[in-house]
Amino acid sequence: MANIKLIKEAISAREKAYCPYSNFKVGAAALFEDGNIYTGCNIENASYGATNCAERTAIFNGVSKGNKVLKELALIGDVNNYTYPCGICRQVITEFAESKDMKIYIIKNENDYIEKTLDEILPGSFTKKDLE
Ligand SMILES: [Zn+2]
Repeated sequence: MANIKLIKEAISAREKAYCPYSNFKVGAAALFEDGNIYTGCNIENASYGATNCAERTAIFNGVSKGNKVLKELALIGDVNNYTYPCGICRQVITEFAESKDMKIYIIKNENDYIEKTLDEILPGSFTKKDLE
């Protein structure tokens, strides 16, 4: 069953986006092992490379509160198209994901979203296991 609360939190986080250069608002919500939802938005910078994506903001928010296990993630960018995480964010999701089957909601609105697993959007990923 879809986590509607997580989806709603991502939608409201999108409103906090700081995106004066792209005007492309993104919101994300991450459910961690402490049972709490941590949100994030994209935060742009005049030096474009310093920009942070919504997914990473949400994940870093949760990790900075002591979490290490990401259970589910919801993401909303464009409300007319499904916006997927960028490559860097897929790698960061992989770092903390509970499993390859971790659910990721790609949202257009509260009633229109798709569910993917991490393995579907980043197969054959490089993980901490590769360093062992
Ligand atoms: Zn990203």
